[in-house]
Amino acid sequence: MFLTFYETIKNDTAFSIFAVYDPVKRAQDVARIVCRGDLRKYYRFRPARFYGGIATADCVGCCLRCIFCWSWQEVVRPGAYGKFYSPEAVARKLLNIAFKKGFDKVRTSGNEPTLSKEHLLRLLQHIPSNILFILETNGILIGYDETYAGDLARYKNLYVRVSFKGTTQEEFSAITGSKPEGFGLQLKGLENLFHAGVEVQPAAMVSFSSADNISAFKERLATIAPEFAYIETEELLLYRDVEERLQKAKMKYTTAYLP
Ligand code: SF4
Repeated sequence: MFLTFYETIKNDTAFSIFAVYDPVKRAQDVARIVCRGDLRKYYRFRPARFYGGIATADCVGCCLRCIFCWSWQEVVRPGAYGKFYSPEAVARKLLNIAFKKGFDKVRTSGNEPTLSKEHLLRLLQHIPSNILFILETNGILIGYDETYAGDLARYKNLYVRVSFKGTTQEEFSAITGSKPEGFGLQLKGLENLFHAGVEVQPAAMVSFSSADNISAFKERLATIAPEFAYIETEELLLYRDVEERLQKAKMKYTTAYLP
């Protein structure tokens, strides 16, 4: 049922979404648009209230296409949004915001920050050790590239939040339109980060999940590390465009909030 939705929006994107896609291949395709050497496209820099106050850099480009994504336009038309920034320039902008607002945390968010490993690692080099850097990621590329987690582990002021798109590979595929195997890469990303010694915590979109699936997912995560049984749950925010996509897809959900 959900894949029908992805067929219905085939004119809504610069990318072919007629068929189920491979998220790693999509990451490579999108990276050709939003990454140039160690430069990366960003569309916004802002203070945010999350984590008790955090300076936020919103990047452009993702390897998934979650139906509920609140930054859908940047995901589906990465060529049309943002500007290229060096790691040094991004660090400077983040630290300026943090300094002005009295924050001790910065993060990359918006779309998927791991598309350019070179940019991300160099950005981390420019964040002082007394400032916590929060990486919000879907974990796909950290699951795919065995060296990624080890490279990130060099930065002790790093905290990673891996956001799962559903609690089973079937939910993942329905939510994202991706091959179901991408869910395994998310799990592998979490596992790689944990084994590399990175401070990491899982979160999951659960608005499309049954209680049984959520429970089984927690048990599965606990086999990686017992503390992962306590996931941060994410629920739908019904922005107008999100609601329209859900209606087109006739996609049922269990919980949702108005923004
Ligand atoms: S992984 Fe995040 S940025 Fe990418 S489509 Fe999903 S919600 Fe949007």
